[in-house]
Amino acid sequence: MAVIQLACPHCSHAFSLENPPPPGEHVPCPACGRKMAVPTESASRPANAPAPPPAERGDAEPRMRKLSRAEKIQRRQVRNIALMIFGVIVLAIAVVVLGRL
Ligand SMILES: [Zn+2]
Repeated sequence: MAVIQLACPHCSHAFSLENPPPPGEHVPCPACGRKMAVPTESASRPANAPAPPPAERGDAEPRMRKLSRAEKIQRRQVRNIALMIFGVIVLAIAVVVLGRL
């Protein structure tokens, strides 16, 4: 069972943690309840443990895809409709405000 020693950076309360989450995760301090990061250096873990491979995703497909003509037209229409709805709302507010005068 893995046990690591932690010291709270907020209230400097020292305690040990059984079955700690992976380094970088945050655990609440038992004394003050504030969160602290689990240190990357763990005494219970052997130093020669193989490091996890870096997250290397062969995402060759470019994220910026060129918009097709149809998509451009559709986006323009959506924007026009949104502008129209906004205009109607502004008009309705104006009518209500002027009606109270
Ligand atoms: Zn604390």
